[in-house]
Amino acid sequence: MNNSIKTINPFNNKTIKEYEVHTSEQLSHFLENSKKAFDKWRETSIKERCRLLDSLAQILEDDKDQLAELITLEMGKPLAQSISEIEKCITLCDFYATNAEDFLADELIDTDANESFISYDPLGTILAVMPWNYPFWQVLRFAVPTLTAGNTAILKHASNVTGCALAIEKLFERAGYPQGCFTSIIANHDAIEKLIANDIIKAVSLTGSEKAGKSIAATAGKHLKKTVLELGGNNACIVLDDADLDKHMDTIVNARMQNAGQSCIAAKRFIVTETIYDEFLKRFKDKVALLKFGDPMDKQVTIGTLARVDLGDILKKQIDGSIALGANVISGNKQDKAYFEPTILTDITKDMPVFKEETFGPVAPIMKVKNTEEAFRMAAETRFGLGTMVFTQSIEIAQHYINTIEDGAYFVNELVKSDARLPFGGTKASGYGRELSREGIHEFVNRKTVFINH
Ligand code: NAP
Repeated sequence: MNNSIKTINPFNNKTIKEYEVHTSEQLSHFLENSKKAFDKWRETSIKERCRLLDSLAQILEDDKDQLAELITLEMGKPLAQSISEIEKCITLCDFYATNAEDFLADELIDTDANESFISYDPLGTILAVMPWNYPFWQVLRFAVPTLTAGNTAILKHASNVTGCALAIEKLFERAGYPQGCFTSIIANHDAIEKLIANDIIKAVSLTGSEKAGKSIAATAGKHLKKTVLELGGNNACIVLDDADLDKHMDTIVNARMQNAGQSCIAAKRFIVTETIYDEFLKRFKDKVALLKFGDPMDKQVTIGTLARVDLGDILKKQIDGSIALGANVISGNKQDKAYFEPTILTDITKDMPVFKEETFGPVAPIMKVKNTEEAFRMAAETRFGLGTMVFTQSIEIAQHYINTIEDGAYFVNELVKSDARLPFGGTKASGYGRELSREGIHEFVNRKTVFINH
């Protein structure tokens, strides 16, 4: 078991900082503190909680550049994309500050009672286990609605972004949240199992891999605690004969290459009908060639390294396994420590790792299919269920397939993306539960039925 955690800048492989893992005594103390904070926090008005959200948004705005630099330093995302991530967090705070009172108000329901309604009560302390790919966004999209609903939160962030975890804790403190409302812990996996078993923890939210999801949900299940799981994805990007490539090519390339491909909702399988295939491939290749790699602190850089060297090794294995089964490398496929050159593969078949498995990096497998029907059939050939996107000018065709898609999202002429106003989440191996929107703030509440006869 490691007693310390090192954060490493993936661009130059230099150690940024070393952190001591919290002891079990410290963790117990954090739990008790969180429970005490909850007992008071649940009594605050939703108006007051929304006021704190405004203050949180202001601090994010004031410290935007500094926070973005921390993201880039720890996980290698180009600075411009880190700035966008912080800006998105601000829109999230604004959204719940405006709407939380409405979302959490008692919901009257007409029955034979004199009064009957649903009351949305907080649950207590919620544990969040979060990934490094959007180190601020992933945490805030959980924490903002969860705290605003009256819960307190304990965060176990991915170890390679421990600096971000501690910076987020400071943000809540500075915004005026009472001590103990939001706590970042530094812990190994086995400590998480014990935390979940503790009575103070009422539920768990995990964003991460399928493997972590299964392990955490099993532990939570043993103790009858609710989980929300946001896991991996293998989104198809369908491009039909009549897609407007002039208009959408940037979006399509971005759907795979932003954040160096390390996004759960990235386009991971391109499925293109044969009449447009050659033109699509040419344009895709030309756009990818324009991506600029370099020091991610440079605002002109558009593609960074992967967040860790070992992530490139996994990708290489998936690509090599696919080449062995007949995939053709059109460009890229060079690895230099944490940098992985954007890679385009063709001659894709559904037994290849790059088609069957989630690829968490800048790899675009492009599959040629005969027609629309085959395209949607191939898109559905996955264990995952985060989202599907389709590019076509025939809106009727796109609409025709809405009910056949089993995923949590279906986007037409747009990349699958999260938006505070819309629910976000998956089906099948991509997990369950929803974040964001009205749905997200209702995940960690007791939806209490109240029935009153006078
Ligand atoms: P990961 O290995 O599952 O790690 C995610 C978090 O879980 C980290 O904090 C990690 O801690 C922790 N963790 C992993 N196994 C654990 C266990 N057995 N017990 C307790 N904690 C555990 O995932 P990743 O490789 O960092 O992130 C990439 C994955 O996340 C991809 O599959 C991606 O699709 C998915 N993801 C999903 C969404 C979504 O919204 N659906 C969003 C982003 C990412 P350590 O860092 O200490 O190992």
